[in-house]
Amino acid sequence: MADFDLIAIGGGSGGLAVAEKAAQLGRRAAIVEAGELGGTCVNNGCVPKKIMWYAANLAQATRDAPGFGVQARLEGIDWPGLVERREGMIDNINRFWNGHAENLGIEVIRGFGRMADAHTVEVNGQRYTAEHIVLAPGGEPIVPPVPGADLGITSDGFFELTERPERVAVIGAGYIGVELAGMLRSLGSEVTLAAIEERALARFDPIVSETLTHQLEADGVHLQLPCKVEKLEQTDDGIALCSDEGCVGHYDTVIWAVGRKPRTAELGLDAAGVETAADGTVPVDAYQDTGVAGVHAIGDITGQAALTPVAIAAGRRLAERLFTERTDRHLDYENIPTVVFSHPPAGAVGLTEPEARERFGDQAVTIYETRFSAMRYALAEHKPETAMKLVCAGDDEKVVGLHMIGDAVDEMLQGFAVAVKAGLTKADFDDTVAIHPTSSEELVTLKTPRED
Ligand SMILES: Cc1cc2nc3c(=O)[nH]c(=O)nc-3n(C[C@H](O)[C@H](O)[C@H](O)COP(=O)(O)OP(=O)(O)OC[C@H]3O[C@@H](n4cnc5c(N)ncnc54)[C@H](O)[C@@H]3O)c2cc1C
Repeated sequence: MADFDLIAIGGGSGGLAVAEKAAQLGRRAAIVEAGELGGTCVNNGCVPKKIMWYAANLAQATRDAPGFGVQARLEGIDWPGLVERREGMIDNINRFWNGHAENLGIEVIRGFGRMADAHTVEVNGQRYTAEHIVLAPGGEPIVPPVPGADLGITSDGFFELTERPERVAVIGAGYIGVELAGMLRSLGSEVTLAAIEERALARFDPIVSETLTHQLEADGVHLQLPCKVEKLEQTDDGIALCSDEGCVGHYDTVIWAVGRKPRTAELGLDAAGVETAADGTVPVDAYQDTGVAGVHAIGDITGQAALTPVAIAAGRRLAERLFTERTDRHLDYENIPTVVFSHPPAGAVGLTEPEARERFGDQAVTIYETRFSAMRYALAEHKPETAMKLVCAGDDEKVVGLHMIGDAVDEMLQGFAVAVKAGLTKADFDDTVAIHPTSSEELVTLKTPRED
């Protein structure tokens, strides 16, 4: 008999979820973890990021306060104190997971796991067998092979900073890049954002990427878009960032935020016969199965929506499918909502306008959109724009995409994602009574379609 019913390699969002569910279903589950339980999200992703975002929002709120008669003044940022308390909070989450795993009877095997064959994992020279092995090792930041690349840090290094950097260049304008740039700017750093795309968040709907690009600039972030970084160089004046057109500027800190790659290189996948795609991801079918019986993969390693709740949902459903009668249980990857904690935050669910036009044809697509300044800023000098778009398809105007950027959209999206997932139409939105005065009421009071 195998040592376990299930072994998860990686104790991050996905690995914890699948092992937790397996244990709750009475199965013998183990997690192999080389670092701290909680993985990227807890230790150097969502959690520390959101703390920094809150700090940045409070800094901005302090600047806005006098307009509302609140006599506050921003006297500085106690970065070391912020980091100390943030890391203390993360220690508590790590402790929670260690205790929770123990209570559930999950064996946590400390060390780096490698597949020895399809049912065996080797950790520190010891072999463990399981009927099912779930690959959940997550990903890591990419550092491109340009001269001087090591002078830069990544998002992992950002969370290790013990002082606020004065002059920062963030390379990459995807969600991690714009989040770091926005936070650092609100916390008072001089920030340059350089990326090969022409706009920030280029893969998002144009209403989001255009509005955010404009706002970053309005907030004093120096945009170098498009810019292909060719090398970093140490000079007496800091780290020089050079593109094919010459030196862009000099910085105390340069942060690479150009994407993440799956941690599959050292996983022994060959020994188990598991194939990888050219980018190192492990292709899976709708049931998280690799091509090898008994070997499954979840989370960032699969190259699907790289988000914590996606890894968790896939993990839980996988354990339910494997260990209950619900043999069709699997995650539907359509209409996954996502929020970017930029300044202001952005959110999206469903198809972008270009995607909808491609899928349904121009004639079938109707767009409703609005732009306004949120009441939160009515008495402040700083007035970031709020922009919202509904992408509707067909005669019944089914809402197939919802995109927004602006104050509080991060908390607004979850409920609207239920509506989009449920396949509701523009008429259903219109039939919902507004909540006043809010920004979200705009989404149920959009009157006329945009005329192109
Ligand atoms: C800066 C940043 C901000 C983010 N913000 C958000 C956000 O706001 N919202 C959101 O939903 N997502 C966010 N994410 C993404 C989110 O963190 C990931 O999608 C999620 O953590 C993926 O879970 P996972 O289980 O695939 O891997 P991970 O959480 O990365 O866990 C993998 C674990 O496996 C361990 N491991 C790897 N290889 C081995 C091995 N061979 N043996 C043993 N252990 C191994 C690692 O140490 C790690 O603990 C963010 C990511 C980053 C980097």
